[in-house]
Amino acid sequence: MNSLPLRLVYSDKSALPIGDHVFHSGKYRGIKERLLQAGAFNESAFLPAPRCQEADLLLVHTRLWIDKLQRGTLSTREELELEVPYSKELVEAFWHMTGGSIMAADQALRNNCCIHIGGGFHHAFADHGEGFCLVNDIAVAIRCMQRDGQIARAMVIDCDVHQGNGTAAIFGTGEPEPFPRPSASSLNPSGSAHVKTSATRDVFTISLHQESNYPYFKPASSIDVNLPDGTTDATYLEWLDHALRRAQERFEPELISYVAGADPYGGDQLGGLALTIDGLKQRDLMVFNFARDHGYPIMVTLAGGYAQDPEDTVKIHVNTALAAKEVFG
Ligand SMILES: [Zn+2]
Repeated sequence: MNSLPLRLVYSDKSALPIGDHVFHSGKYRGIKERLLQAGAFNESAFLPAPRCQEADLLLVHTRLWIDKLQRGTLSTREELELEVPYSKELVEAFWHMTGGSIMAADQALRNNCCIHIGGGFHHAFADHGEGFCLVNDIAVAIRCMQRDGQIARAMVIDCDVHQGNGTAAIFGTGEPEPFPRPSASSLNPSGSAHVKTSATRDVFTISLHQESNYPYFKPASSIDVNLPDGTTDATYLEWLDHALRRAQERFEPELISYVAGADPYGGDQLGGLALTIDGLKQRDLMVFNFARDHGYPIMVTLAGGYAQDPEDTVKIHVNTALAAKEVFG
């Protein structure tokens, strides 16, 4: 691995104009400030997120959906499904969010790892948005790298507490096939968690999430780990390790897109798992070590995080950047 310093992508233009909302989008600025205050990164480590191009979005999304977003012609139902107040300013912020994720993918391919202080909008489908997500920056970034001939195959490792339904639907991995249960009885002795897997083409998707949570219809990922309510650090990390090993046996990515949601945290208002802040950092380290050990470039998006105390959300995301620095320097 080369030794260029770790870079991060950030833009004030990505701030989401959604007012007082459970999605505290002020977290992005807070994360950058904390990283600077801690002396972990210099200002020069932060690259400005550019605005994406319409052609980038159209690699994933329908022309109709992008036109509706740009012209403000969503139906009432389409607006309600977003669960954030629609505005043209919000669309503009999402174009920068998406540009930031494209840049993070490109940087990761040059420099092994790159963190986008933003992104991870995994609930957006090709033809509609939902769950705070207007467009799917994860999918757009991967498709841009493929279009530009930089990669053929990518792997999404989605550790947000909510299943990556939009990403799974976009990459269309087909019907689930049987997935062998782990033989170690220490893994979920209650038997209530289960894993489903399916064949895939050029993008392999892994999602670890709380089963009894939004989205209630979960399109099949390549590997879905459906975790029971109240899952704690040790059990979560065992399942993650197992999923990564199984994925690696079946698929060789040229880029990993890590969706590092902060909402598996026990103190999250929209999540029902019980991870600790330290457990979430262990999770991040496990994913980064997996990428480094196999020589897979990795880009990171932050996705959800709705802790009762917004400072906890910021701390969890800050730790993701610190974990990346520990592993990649
Ligand atoms: Zn989430």
